[in-house]
Amino acid sequence: MFDTTLRDGDQMPGIELDLDEKLYIARLLDELRVDIIEAGFPASSRIDWEAVRRIKREASYARVAGLARANRRDVEAAAEAEADIIHVFIATSDIHMKHKLRMTREQVIEAAVDAVEYARSHGAYVLFSAEDATRSDPGFLVRVYRRVVEAGAEYINIPDTVGTATPWRMEWIVSLVRGSLPRWVRVDVHCHNDFGLATANTLAGVRAGADGVQVTVNGFGERGGNASLEEVVAALHFLMGRRTGVRMEMLTRVSREVARLFGVELPPNKPVTGLNAFAHEAGIHVHGVLANPATYEPMPPEAVGNTRRIVLGRHSGRAAVAHALRSMGFEPERGLVDYILERIKEYAPRMKKVDQDTLARWVREYYAARIPGAEAVAAGR
Ligand code: MN
Repeated sequence: MFDTTLRDGDQMPGIELDLDEKLYIARLLDELRVDIIEAGFPASSRIDWEAVRRIKREASYARVAGLARANRRDVEAAAEAEADIIHVFIATSDIHMKHKLRMTREQVIEAAVDAVEYARSHGAYVLFSAEDATRSDPGFLVRVYRRVVEAGAEYINIPDTVGTATPWRMEWIVSLVRGSLPRWVRVDVHCHNDFGLATANTLAGVRAGADGVQVTVNGFGERGGNASLEEVVAALHFLMGRRTGVRMEMLTRVSREVARLFGVELPPNKPVTGLNAFAHEAGIHVHGVLANPATYEPMPPEAVGNTRRIVLGRHSGRAAVAHALRSMGFEPERGLVDYILERIKEYAPRMKKVDQDTLARWVREYYAARIPGAEAVAAGR
């Protein structure tokens, strides 16, 4: 598990994390047990340089990576910040080489090899990313990876930089690269979510033999964001039977804390950690969940630190009302349940939600109406 919330996530438009926020998030990630924290891009700012250095000193479990373009100055900055892993990258797609780098294929290989050798000479463990790998010529891509591995990179990453891969394309590319490199080379995938495929593409990469996944908390990152840590961890665990070592019961707390620090409100339908991820309102669903949660829950909410919510609203049925009454200490007798259901259907279209205070008021009204004289007492007559 390679988390890049503090580097790719920090590149989210409108977001500027300060050093204290970075240190706070790093502590959460370390406690969560991600294997690697990419703490920043040391050559880009003083804050990032300092963040890499401080987090490397403080982290008790995770190793710390620092990003560097394929030039000696950037590598030097990452080495001075004492990154455990120097993450060297350069673009390998024709569109990036021609219009952004204005470099030929041979110049790109030369720069990549030189930067990797230079990072190795500082004693760092080197990760190499071929930016825009999924839009690169596959033959050239394999050549680049082979050359950087010969130059001393023991760890490579295959980024889907603009999120244009499909799961079957990702599987094909990862198999090709994996099969062209010695088995001891560690291979990561790094997927973006421009088409909402980041989690699916990440899983496809793992299926094809990737050893690691690069993710961010809540999928925060450039444009449509990155593969989200909580979705990838939960899917690897519950759908593919893979162990990540991440403390899954911390996922919801970490997701919400990081959202708060980024100043971003999570959508209620956010998978795994959202407010509605385990919320049920429709009568048929509530009835099923109360009989056995597995009927409408793909994983136990407590396993990812989230909670089940039975929401009362226009779609509620008898089972939900009885459950709500019981949880508040009232006996759900039939007449009371019917009365509450009528009130909900009458009020729900105009109310955001039926809360406990409203429910308690309706219970009082019901009993007041049933006991002779009580109505007058309740009305103060
Ligand atoms: Mn990225």
